[in-house]
Amino acid sequence: MNSHDPADGAFSVETLLTHTGRSPDDQFGFVNTPVYRGSTVLFRSLADLEAQQQRFLYGRAGNPTTASVEAVVTALEGAYRSLLLPSGLAAITVALLACVKAGDDVLISDSAYDPVRKFADGFLARMGVTARYYDPRIGAGLAGLMQPNTTAVLAESPGSLTFEVQDLPALAAAAHAGGARLLVDNSWASPLYHRPLALGADIVIHSGTKMFVGHSDAFAGTISTTETAWSDVLQARTLLGFFTSGDEAFLVARGLRTLAIRMGEHQKRALEIAGWLEEQAEVEAVLHPALPSHPDHTLFKRDFSGSGSLFGLLLPPAPREAVAAFVDHLALFSMGYSWGGFESLCLPVKPGNRRTAVPWTTEGNLFRLHIGFEAVDDLKADLGRALERYQAARR
Ligand SMILES: *Cc1c(COP(=O)(O)O)cnc(C)c1O
Repeated sequence: MNSHDPADGAFSVETLLTHTGRSPDDQFGFVNTPVYRGSTVLFRSLADLEAQQQRFLYGRAGNPTTASVEAVVTALEGAYRSLLLPSGLAAITVALLACVKAGDDVLISDSAYDPVRKFADGFLARMGVTARYYDPRIGAGLAGLMQPNTTAVLAESPGSLTFEVQDLPALAAAAHAGGARLLVDNSWASPLYHRPLALGADIVIHSGTKMFVGHSDAFAGTISTTETAWSDVLQARTLLGFFTSGDEAFLVARGLRTLAIRMGEHQKRALEIAGWLEEQAEVEAVLHPALPSHPDHTLFKRDFSGSGSLFGLLLPPAPREAVAAFVDHLALFSMGYSWGGFESLCLPVKPGNRRTAVPWTTEGNLFRLHIGFEAVDDLKADLGRALERYQAARR
């Protein structure tokens, strides 16, 4: 290895991304850790089998390819350790299961990723765990919701449909005072621009499917923890039997090498288009925390060092035909779930169907935009034509 371990804190994020988690000396000099496929790991002697000290014991728990991804994410998040999971949703469910037992209670942000609500209401409830939802802007007010049996608080900041920024230090203080852990879904900003563990969180989750993979061609999730939270998370993952293949891990590792470059470009392009949209007469509002018009902009500036590819576009009330006129004839933006790839996306969303703690009463039609790597002027022209069609269909 090099004389400096790139993960030792002496290097900046860009350098960590290029050097952490690979060891050419162990791979015949090849730059990247290749795809390892394997279930059985062999022991050389009875003494080795009994000692259980080998780096790998059985393929389900990981292999050099998955370990290389975990090393990078650990360095980026400033975590004790990290785990690679088969999807972002699996990362969230395992992290929550690591924090609860029958009779416990969890508090989940009202802005959280919708399948998490379905997991909490449909699955945790059957296991005897109650889930309640909190206003993403509650901050220190979370203390008023804590119950003696509350063991986990799950934040997603900003919410990936509605973009409220959460006051993580305040949430962490309230959660810890009540004996609960703070879990944060950090998929939007990536660890480049937001470090929840440094703000008091215990567990950080990523949908690696999004920015880490970056090419819309693989699924992954990660969990990174403090030293205190680690054993519960590792135990939950191990007991539940989750495994992530070396093939998927390889694509995550490959994506991570260019994360800083891609995030920088996503940030720049998304901000330019968001600012331009804000000036268009047909636009009601743009929900992007890095815009000074955003209600949580001050909090954003305090806790984030940059912004992501994803933001909301609110257009004035209009019938369904206007929404169809907007999305059905876009030349460059495509409609689909997920985000984080090189290609731009535009998805109509209805947060009002999901909220329970703070009803979403905002009038109008909301779209979620992911800004990819097409030329910005081409994207603006595509959106400009869509706004004209929307206007025409409103009349
Ligand atoms: C997509 C997404 C998830 C779920 O990730 P998958 O990899 O699709 O399971 C979780 N959180 C956020 C914010 C997401 O955007």
